[in-house]
Amino acid sequence: MAHSFIPVNTPLLDGNEERYLMECIRTGWISSEGPFIKEFEEKMAAYVGRNFGVAVSNGSAALDIAVAALGIGAGDEVIMPTFTIISPALSIVRAGAKPVLVDSDPVTWNIDVSQIEQKITPKTKAILVVHIYGLPVDMDPVLELCEKYKLHLIEDAAEMHGQTYKGRRCGSFGAISTFSFYPNKHITTGEGGMVLTDDEELAEKCRKLRNLAFEPQGRRFIHYDLGWNYRMTNLQAALGLAQLEKIGQHLERKRNFGAIYQEGLRGMKDFQLPMDKINYAENIYWVFGLVAENEQLCNDTVQYLAEHHIGTRPFFWCMHEQPVFQKMGLYSGERYPIAEKLARNGFYLPSGLGLVNEDIKKVIQLLKAV
Ligand SMILES: *Cc1c(COP(=O)(O)O)cnc(C)c1O
Repeated sequence: MAHSFIPVNTPLLDGNEERYLMECIRTGWISSEGPFIKEFEEKMAAYVGRNFGVAVSNGSAALDIAVAALGIGAGDEVIMPTFTIISPALSIVRAGAKPVLVDSDPVTWNIDVSQIEQKITPKTKAILVVHIYGLPVDMDPVLELCEKYKLHLIEDAAEMHGQTYKGRRCGSFGAISTFSFYPNKHITTGEGGMVLTDDEELAEKCRKLRNLAFEPQGRRFIHYDLGWNYRMTNLQAALGLAQLEKIGQHLERKRNFGAIYQEGLRGMKDFQLPMDKINYAENIYWVFGLVAENEQLCNDTVQYLAEHHIGTRPFFWCMHEQPVFQKMGLYSGERYPIAEKLARNGFYLPSGLGLVNEDIKKVIQLLKAV
């Protein structure tokens, strides 16, 4: 049966979550010292095709650690999309470096890879790509640029669990990749994240940074670096393990919702739908986004859906238009027309794993009545 209010997200916790959580309670392993952490790190790394995973408290923390572990700091520049969640920009700014922004691709809504090279300067230290909403970034040109200019690659794969680029798992590219396990992601730990890498030394650095930069050896409580307490708890890892067991079904469910939306909304005038597939990937529909022809139509549609008890979310807001960054004197006068249009005219529909087909069909019916 369809829900009476259809929220934009609702998680699906129908596997071994309760069993593994009870095991934490029964055994008393509730902190970050518990055995599920290592198991979750190993299984997630194996799933993505990485050598090492470092579980952390959330996806934003994972980005902080990734940037710090690569030694990015004052005077450095990191190239990233302007259209994204703020987390990657925060990590770069807090490290004392500057996020250098690039406009979006109008079809995939990801960073426009053809505009990256012109942003590279002698200060550029890394390219940080963010895979957005369900389709990955076109990685080959990015990999070429990293090779040509000797830049680090950081991959924010927070929305891409299980997605592939030309058959290779997202989160397996570059020096470091990060995931989030927030409840609207394909697998959740409530709050949680992970840093992944193939480099043992980098993995050790990440482990240290997550744990207040305690030295792995030597006298405890003497510190040589600035760290954080970004540890994940055994309770979170218990959820993560149960979720990872069902990731295949979760992805299938998202793709099924995506297919129902595509079928139902095809030909709808004045709205751009996400691409079901492009030459290098098929959409996993982390969320099902729509871009209206103009801002008014976007606002009216969102309001109409709200009046009919349908939750929506606006798209991300561009980094160059963030008041917090403008206050700091960043990005005055910069314009990124595609990203600005996405931010103003875009919103996404209920896409959570806990929804049922009837919910999606109800949203389609209402949208067609707009
Ligand atoms: C969700 C998300 C994050 C942040 O993850 P949290 O766990 O909420 O901190 C970072 N980047 C992207 C692209 C995301 O979608």
